[in-house]
Amino acid sequence: MAVIGFIGLGNMGMPMARNLVQAGYLVYGFNRSKEKEETFEELGGRRAESLSLIAEKADIIMTCLPEPQDVHDVLSELFEMEISDSLIIDFSTVTSALHENMKEKAAGKGVQYLDAPVSGGTAGAEAGTLAIMCGGEEDAFEKARPLFDVLGASITHTGPAGSGTKVKLINQYMVGMHTAAVAEALHLADESGIDKDMLYDVLSNSFAQSKIFDRHYPDFIAADREEPGFALSLLLKDLNLAGEMAGEREVPLEAGRKVKEMFEDAKQQGYGGKDMSAFYQYTTGKYS
Ligand code: NAD
Repeated sequence: MAVIGFIGLGNMGMPMARNLVQAGYLVYGFNRSKEKEETFEELGGRRAESLSLIAEKADIIMTCLPEPQDVHDVLSELFEMEISDSLIIDFSTVTSALHENMKEKAAGKGVQYLDAPVSGGTAGAEAGTLAIMCGGEEDAFEKARPLFDVLGASITHTGPAGSGTKVKLINQYMVGMHTAAVAEALHLADESGIDKDMLYDVLSNSFAQSKIFDRHYPDFIAADREEPGFALSLLLKDLNLAGEMAGEREVPLEAGRKVKEMFEDAKQQGYGGKDMSAFYQYTTGKYS
C-alpha cells in the first residue's frame, strides 16, 4: 500500500487523513500548528515533524491548505527536496493557474500532479462522501482513484490539471449565492412573522430546496451554532477566486459582485472566523 504524507490537518484535512488511516494506509501528518499533529497521532496517524520527513517517506503527498499562497509556499519548499517518483494531490480550493504552474514544476522533478478540490464540507469529509473533482493526467488519476474511493462518493476526472479547480470555483460561486439567498430569505421570514422551522419544512419540498439550505439551517442557524465548518473568510476567498476566473474571461457575474461586497463587509464586521452560515446573523444584525 502507498505511504501517504498529508499536509494541512484542518477542518477538512484531519477527517480525510483519518479516513485514510482507517482504510489501512500509513499516513504521516504535517500541520503548521503542532497540536493538530498530536490529535492526528491520537487518531492513529504518524506525526511528521518536518516537511522533509514527508518528502523522504511518502509515495503520495496530499495537501489541504487554506489559501493559494499556502499551497504555493509548501509545494515550493517540497520541490527543493528529493521527491521524484511521487504523486502530489492538492485538495485545497485555489486557482487553476497555480495548479498549471505547480504541475509544470512537479513534472520537472519527475513527479505527477493532480488538483482535486472537494465539496461536501466537514460532514462529507467525516463520512468519506466528498465530491472530488480532479484535474490531471489519466494515469495519475487512476493511481489516485483507490484513495479517492476512501475519501469520496462522487469522483470525477474533469480534464487536465487545473480543470478540477475551475469546476470547484463555479461550485463555490453558487455556494456563495445560495448562502446569501438563504440568509436574506430567513431574514424576510423573521420580519414577516413566519416560523423558520415551518418554512424550512415547506421549502424542503419545493423548488427552493438546496443542499446549502439543508447544510445551513438545521445544524447551524436553527442550532445557533457559528463555529466552522467552513469559515466565512474561506468562502470570501473562493468568491474572490471565482471573480478573478470570471474577470479573465470577461464574464461579468453581476449578481455575484454585490454578494461578494456583502461578504467583504461581513468579514469586516467580525464574521470571518465564523461558519459561512453566520451570513444570516450578519444580515439580520445589519438590516434589522
Ligand atoms: P482550515 O483552516 O481548517 O485548515 C487548514 C490547515 O492547514 C490548518 O490546520 C492550518 O494550521 C494548516 N496550515 C496552514 N498553512 C500551513 C502550512 N504552511 N504548513 C502546514 N500546515 C498549514 O481549512 P479547511 O476548512 O480545512 O480548508 C482547507 C481547504 O479546503 C481550503 O482551501 C478550503 O477552501 C477547502 N475546503 C474547505 C471545506 C470546508 O467545509 N471546510 C470544504 C471544501 C473545501
